[in-house]
Amino acid sequence: MSGVFPPGAAVALSLSFDDARASQLEAIGILQEYGIRASFYVLPASVAAAPDRWRVVALSGHEIGNHTRTHPCSANFEFSRANALEDKTMRDIATDIDAASQVIQDFLDVQPKTFAYPCGQSFIGRGRQRRSYVPLVAERFVAGRGYASETGNLPDRCDLAHLEAYVIDGLDAGAMKSIVDAGMIRGEWVIMVGHDIGQRRPQTVPVWELDRFCRRVSQDDRIWIAPVLQVAERIQSIRQAENRG
Ligand SMILES: [Zn+2]
Repeated sequence: MSGVFPPGAAVALSLSFDDARASQLEAIGILQEYGIRASFYVLPASVAAAPDRWRVVALSGHEIGNHTRTHPCSANFEFSRANALEDKTMRDIATDIDAASQVIQDFLDVQPKTFAYPCGQSFIGRGRQRRSYVPLVAERFVAGRGYASETGNLPDRCDLAHLEAYVIDGLDAGAMKSIVDAGMIRGEWVIMVGHDIGQRRPQTVPVWELDRFCRRVSQDDRIWIAPVLQVAERIQSIRQAENRG
């Protein structure tokens, strides 16, 4: 698929951060400094705790995406035992997703257009009743972002409703850059996911490493850095044009 990336670019890079953790607000100046706009998959309760600050994030050109209201994951996660995907119906998950979009609209005046699967899990039910809820995301959003993947996304083949994404929690700048370098060789859209931004702790992107990484990628014209929505809409419009032609 030609023409997906701007002239001169050989790889697309989207940075995303999940759960609207407070440390993201503290570190967002790093992104601003290098002119990078990211995708924030927020939880409504966290947005409601600091609506003014999240409004500034949205107004700064960052994308605000849907990550459900209650963050249901597998019952194997202790935190999700009473809110497990194995026990949900399709209607439950649809209600949860739509409630999140409503809160984001109310607090931030933004209609989320992309989604991130909590824990990267996209099923409901168990055994013979287990179903994928990807179709429900495809109906509502331009794109759905996965988690903890081992590849990037090939623009002409990827499923926009279930995109691959690399975890960058705990990585240093060199490791992050090598993911982008590999994506450049393959002509991929590389999506990265982090949680907290700060000192070395679990589920945290080290703040100095993020700074070094952002400086390096923002200086390289071969890397097109854009929020998930922007790249997804570009792919979508090219696919639609090709289908018409
Ligand atoms: Zn999450």
